[in-house]
Amino acid sequence: MTAPGAPTQVLAWWAAGEEHLATALGRLTDEELDAPSLLPGWTRHRLLAHVARNADALVNLLTWARTGVETPMYASNEARSAGIDSAAALAPGQLRTEVLGSVVRLAAAVDALPEEAWAHEVRTAQGRMVPATEVPWMRCREVWVHAVDLDAGVGFDEVPADVGAALVDDVFRMWDRRDEVPDVVLFVGDRTWGTGALAVSGELPAVLAWVTGRSEGADLTADGPLPALPAWL
Ligand code: ZN
Repeated sequence: MTAPGAPTQVLAWWAAGEEHLATALGRLTDEELDAPSLLPGWTRHRLLAHVARNADALVNLLTWARTGVETPMYASNEARSAGIDSAAALAPGQLRTEVLGSVVRLAAAVDALPEEAWAHEVRTAQGRMVPATEVPWMRCREVWVHAVDLDAGVGFDEVPADVGAALVDDVFRMWDRRDEVPDVVLFVGDRTWGTGALAVSGELPAVLAWVTGRSEGADLTADGPLPALPAWL
């Protein structure tokens, strides 16, 4: 049982996402880890190193929420890079253990968080102060999207529709905070995002891939040329 203060829906999405990522990882041989991921410049091995370090960074935020002692995700940008480098230097078997072990540590930190601590504020990688209830979502979006980035045969069509819609919401919120919302209105079934001039429609997986910068949007339908989109995170 999670505490009443915990974001129950997102915790369920997150748990499913970790299983999904573990399944994707399980499909790859050790040799295949050395190949490129779908993220330009990132091998699968290095992407997994980032995924492991991200879990530890989020444990830091939950420690901050639990203790009240400021504990940032990463001590500095240099420390973030050094952490990824050290995990990226692990042998494939060790890296797999590290990826799964970091999830166990994060799950333990979630379980250890007292109900009232979920309201404590912590700082995101983008520098915003948010309640700790946001932390599971920060991990949820990482695992669902990086599972696709691993290029292990899982795609955005395997992202559950409610998670996919929440991810598109997240992208638009990020753009809105930076005052960078593109001049589009997206239509997916009976959902819409944006209020811009260019109408764009498609299936949720195709829209998700496009707004997260994972596709050029060739499988979308639009009244005119698609704009180049701002980065998400
Ligand atoms: Zn990431």
